[in-house]
Amino acid sequence: MKVLVTGGAGFIGLHFVEKLLKEKMEVVIVDNLSSGIKERVPKSAAFYEIDIENLSIENIFAFEKPDYVVHLAAQVSVPFSMKNPYADCLANIAGTVNLLQNCVKYNVKKFIFASSAAVYGEPAYLPIDEDHPQHPISFYSLSKQTSEHYIKLYTKHFGLDHSILRFANVYGPGQNAHGEAGVISIFLNSIFAQTPPIIYGGEQTRDFVYVKDVADGLFSSLHNGRNCTFNLSTNTETKINELLILMLKKVNTNLNPVIKPQREGDIGQSRLDNTKALTELQWIPKYTLDRGLQETIDMYQ
Ligand code: NAD
Repeated sequence: MKVLVTGGAGFIGLHFVEKLLKEKMEVVIVDNLSSGIKERVPKSAAFYEIDIENLSIENIFAFEKPDYVVHLAAQVSVPFSMKNPYADCLANIAGTVNLLQNCVKYNVKKFIFASSAAVYGEPAYLPIDEDHPQHPISFYSLSKQTSEHYIKLYTKHFGLDHSILRFANVYGPGQNAHGEAGVISIFLNSIFAQTPPIIYGGEQTRDFVYVKDVADGLFSSLHNGRNCTFNLSTNTETKINELLILMLKKVNTNLNPVIKPQREGDIGQSRLDNTKALTELQWIPKYTLDRGLQETIDMYQ
């Protein structure tokens, strides 16, 4: 079984590739290394440095003939998307369509897409289930929502199977501080540099899901959840203030945070209902925040 992973040199990608290799799958990685790290890519995976929006990606599909495509590559920065909507659109929408076109042409069995809780916007109710209304508030989240629509139409018109996975706030070893949900890595950088962490507001809540659980969810979706959309989350809310206290306690240090006003456009509360993934993907997140943070801190140290 051959799996082509776009963004396989990135944070989530590397954990997922590790899982695939452990399960004895053949892995092909496509990544432009804009934030991915080539040195971390396992030698046993084939690697192509290329933009997903590049039309010559077809040569890779023709040569490798993957059974599955797991699409993780994306421009992941919300602020970048607000300053550069065209560049965001090219990478996240045109890039996705380029992949879908090749999946149809080269008879890929299934397309799995890394979407985001960001598609929901400000929650109307909690926990947010997959049918919750969608009000993207950034070009990044709009690009995820638009890609979801493209994927569903490719299924309808060309019979390409898919699963769409909407990740909550993913964290874990190897995450850089610039991604969609880098608050834990931002805090870690401050804590280990002994500089006061900055908190914007602090009463907001987030649903933190550990990266190895996300890798397991992606793996389950290869064979489950045909043509469905799932939240990958822990269905747990943690306040940013509480998160920092927990992290400071774990490293046994005492730093007073700098409190700044909550940023405009920052969502107040977030908790995603994961019932559908638990039942239909047969996926169980194994890591509590406490355990995931411990592993992340141990690796960081
Ligand atoms: P990441 O930045 O670590 O990984 C993205 C990878 O894609 C990088 O290796 C980068 O070099 C590559 N890439 C970016 N643009 C590309 C392009 N145009 N062509 C080829 N490769 C390109 O980010 P991540 O946190 O691992 O995110 C993976 C996916 O999960 C993304 O689609 C992101 O939107 C989604 N997601 C992440 C989170 C999170 O909390 N980290 C939450 C929701 C959704």
